[in-house]
Parts: sequence; structure tokens; C-alpha cells
Amino acid sequence: MRYAEHISELVGGTPLVRLNTVTEGLSATILAKIEYLNPGGSVKDRIALKMIEAAEASGELQPGGTIVEPTSGNTGVGLALVAQRKGYECVFVCPDKVSQDKRDVLAAYGARVVVTPTAVPPDHPDSYYSVSDRLVREIPGAWKPDQYSNPNGPASHYESTGPEVWADTDGRVTHFVAGVGTGGTITGTGRYLHDVSADRSEADGGRVAVVGADPAGSVYSGGDGRPYLVEGVGEDFWPTAYDPKVPDEVIAVSDADSFAMTRRLAREEGLLVGGSCGMAVVAALRLARRLEDEDPEAAARAVIVVLLPDSGRGYLSKIFNDGWMRSYGFLEAESEVTAGDILR
Ligand code: PMP
Repeated sequence: MRYAEHISELVGGTPLVRLNTVTEGLSATILAKIEYLNPGGSVKDRIALKMIEAAEASGELQPGGTIVEPTSGNTGVGLALVAQRKGYECVFVCPDKVSQDKRDVLAAYGARVVVTPTAVPPDHPDSYYSVSDRLVREIPGAWKPDQYSNPNGPASHYESTGPEVWADTDGRVTHFVAGVGTGGTITGTGRYLHDVSADRSEADGGRVAVVGADPAGSVYSGGDGRPYLVEGVGEDFWPTAYDPKVPDEVIAVSDADSFAMTRRLAREEGLLVGGSCGMAVVAALRLARRLEDEDPEAAARAVIVVLLPDSGRGYLSKIFNDGWMRSYGFLEAESEVTAGDILR
């Protein structure tokens, strides 16, 4: 009989799938890494598992302890399912702008959800940050993973995502593209791919190029923190989980282009994925277009892997809702994308 002892054993080992129609006119092989096939439905299962195991090893998390994290989504699900296996409680702090659906998902996994007001400054006692810090102080045996500064986030990608990409491409990957949120994915995976390809000959593709994708307005692509609607990526500060020396470049993508591509991935490629996935695919296609313009022979040999962090199920009332899209003018923008202007 072939079975896992627990769902948390099935984290990682996600497949690569070739993109076919959105890549029209490009000769590079563009492969998507499908992270929604993790048991909690996102790439964040990987960091949850590693952060918890490391905290157990260091003694920061003891039997019967409580995990306290300010998170509203994917990281909470990953932490909750690993915590269940190991008998920890979870308390997640979410600002009140987070949808009821997302809070319900966390509660369904057995977590306690504490809601804080959005409209207060960070140093206010009721802010998201203050409340989570207070809970850590007040709950006996509490431990806060802090995905923005925990080095085990990037380490989980160095140990799992990076080796998977390298092995599944038989060491032929030439470019790796991922969105930047905490920066854990691009830092850990990129660092591994740089290390393993450091001595690869130019004929075999040379050193892997690591390319970040970022919402226009976020600091990673030179913005000032201006707001954007794509969720899970971009920042208005520099987290220590992100090593800015790892990406060889960062490409900024607009909300309109990100969402239009997200809808195309569902409709044309059978990939119902989140908005940060559409964003990463736009960056991968722009990269492929540039390679094509610069050196068509090298472009034909390029193997571009783009990581798709989560599923589209959590965005049905936004990206996949015509009324919501229209209210921001994104449907009009989509027609340009559909006409082939996405790569400009
Ligand atoms: N997309 C989504 C939907 C996410 O939740 C995250 C994690 N914040 C990312 C992309 C970016 O991943 P990372 O934090 O590893 O940079």
C-alpha cells in the first residue's frame, strides 16, 4: 500500500507544466511550477514546515506550544496543517480588511483568528503588529515564526524548491522567475540555482539567471510602496528574508496586466491560479520576448521556469468577477492583453 502517514508529509514535490497558448510567438520553453498542488494549496506550506521543525530543534517551540503569526492567508494554512499534526495551537492575527472567506478558512483548520482594525498606525496598541506582539508575550509557550525575518523561509526553498527545479529540468533550467513577497522563494530557490549552476559551461546555459517579478509601486522594483491590488507580493519595506543580491533583475508588472494574464491562464491553460501567478507569468513572457529580440538562437535553447504560488479559488469574487474587474477598469485593459499587447 502506498500512502502518507499525514497530509503534511506531502508538502513539496510539485510538478512542472509547459505553458502553451500564452507563449505564442516565443521559442523558449516556459515551464510553470504548480505550487497550488501543495496540501494547503500554496507555496507557503514549504516554509511553514521548515520554520516549525527548526523551532522545535532549537527549543523555541515546545510540546503544547502556541504558534502566533500575523497572517491572513497562505502562510496561516500551512502553519495550521503542520501544527495539527504536531499538537500545537495556532492564533492568527488579521486586519479587518481581510475577507471573511479567508478568516473562515483559517478557522476551519482549527486556528483562532484575532481581527484587528486596519485604520490605525502600526505603533497603536490595537494594530496588527502590536496585537501579535502582545499575544506572544501573554500566551505561555507562544512562538512567532515571523516569515519576514525567519531565515528558515529561504532555507526551505534552498532545500526543496531549488533542487526540484534543477532535477525536473535535468539541470537545463536557464532562467527562474518568481514573485517577491517576503522574498523567501526567490532568495532560497535563486541561491540554490546560482550555486548549482555556477560552473556550468556557456554552451549548457551558463549560470541560471534569477528574475524577480514585482507589482509596479513596490520597493523591490524601485517603487515607493504605492498601493497595488495583486495580493501576496510586493512590499513597502525591505524584509530580511529577502536578499536583494540574489535576483539578477526585478521586473515590475501592473495590476491590469497581472489580472488579465491570471484570467487567461484559467481560460486557456486550465490553470486556475492567483493574481501573483499572472504577474509572474507576465514577467516570464517579457523576459522571453527580450531574449528573442537579443539572440534568437539562445532564446530557442532557453528553459524558463516560473513559479505559480497559489490557486485562483481564493480570488473568485475579485479577479474572476467581471463586476470587480470592471470597477477598476481592468476589463478594458484585458482586451489589449488578449490582442497580444501583454509583452510591451
Ligand atoms: N504569491 C502569493 C499569493 C503569496 O502568498 C506569496 C507569499 N507572501 C508570494 C506570492 C511571494 O512569496 P515569498 O513570500 O516567498 O516572496
